[in-house]
Amino acid sequence: MKKDAESRKIAILGSTGSIGTQTVEIVRANPELQVVALAGGTRVEPIEAQIREFHPLIACMWTDEAAKELALRVKDLPVRVVSGMDGLLEIAAMPEVEVLVTAIVGMIGIRPTIAAIKAHKTIALANKETLVTAGHIIMPLAKECGVSILPVDSEHSAIFQSMQGQPRERVHKILLTASGGPFRGRTKEQLACVTVEDALKHPNWSMGKKITVDSATLVNKGLEVMEARWLFDVDIKQIEVLIHPQSILHSAVEYADGSIIGQMGLPDMKLPIQYALFYPDRKPMDGGRVDLCQISQLTFEKPDMETFAGLSMALAAAEAGGTMPTVYNAANERAVSLFLQKKIRFLQIYELIADCMSAHRIVNNPNVNEILEAEAETYDFIKQLTGDTQL
Ligand code: NAD
Ligand code: MG
Repeated sequence: MKKDAESRKIAILGSTGSIGTQTVEIVRANPELQVVALAGGTRVEPIEAQIREFHPLIACMWTDEAAKELALRVKDLPVRVVSGMDGLLEIAAMPEVEVLVTAIVGMIGIRPTIAAIKAHKTIALANKETLVTAGHIIMPLAKECGVSILPVDSEHSAIFQSMQGQPRERVHKILLTASGGPFRGRTKEQLACVTVEDALKHPNWSMGKKITVDSATLVNKGLEVMEARWLFDVDIKQIEVLIHPQSILHSAVEYADGSIIGQMGLPDMKLPIQYALFYPDRKPMDGGRVDLCQISQLTFEKPDMETFAGLSMALAAAEAGGTMPTVYNAANERAVSLFLQKKIRFLQIYELIADCMSAHRIVNNPNVNEILEAEAETYDFIKQLTGDTQL
């Protein structure tokens, strides 16, 4: 571990993914950041490389098998290798961690986030599924423990930045921007035959496959509306989604006097990640700058919620509350996985989500077990619906 007088000690859950590796790039460029723990899924090689570069105290793999292989590979180093949910929970609460970066994908992030809040760690939150499904547990707990939840998602970071120094009670509405994805402007008929390759061609952002498909369906925006509602304690009706194809205004806040304060920048996740890691400072960052004259036009339009039902179904799920956002998220997760395996067509993603939501009986104010049960129930339901036993 590197030592530094003003060091900030961080743990990264999901360090080998899209957000994880960009977090690692920020660490590389900022010697005052010290990585004390890393966690990955099942791919051993990239975690080994990160351990050799950053010398964390502890590393976690999701499976015992991967953990055993990793332990063998790094036996020349003093790092301790752990596995599974117990490993994630141990990292979340370890005394050396100051900031926990939740860059893991899925509801698996809920329990480690809760453990970290209880252990008074600052949370740099990328894992939106945690707030979508358990925001009603996470936010009050963070308040009670005096813990900051710092958003990493670019839109939420923009909103958060636009709220600095402003009276919260004067927030009139949140303007949440969306690029519109690769299929903006298409009709339902045109969407019927789009391919996986088409869906993965995001016009502006380079991200993991799942979230790229979620951008094409507007499910990502739906999840982000729910995430914003919990992060900023606003009513769903106070959040307006705007399609902004240039992805320069990352989101904005409209105040009671009609002023709109927003954050602009290039579409690069490293900026919101760095902002969360050094908040409230705003550190220098190398890289490109927005040239407004070259861009020349920033445009905005209303989303087509009928064609891109991912957004309208999210608003319905948020309105219904309880376990419904969990069902929306879990159904989408499985549907996207089937789409990526070319087992279903693009529009069937919406159909599967709608089927799961209409079959679900809501549990109000669910605890973590009830949330995870709703997730498992949705997975089972999709298995039955599709007859896909590999799910
Ligand atoms: P990704 O699939 O690229 O990476 C996920 C990471 O989690 C990988 O390191 C993987 O190994 C790890 N992982 C998966 N299952 C695990 C498990 N059971 N235990 C431990 N680690 C596990 O995903 P991503 O695109 O980096 O997204 C991560 C989260 O950030 C998601 O919630 C996503 O919605 C959110 N997010 C991503 C972006 C982006 O630009 N990629 C932007 C905003 C928000
Ligand atoms: Mg986003």
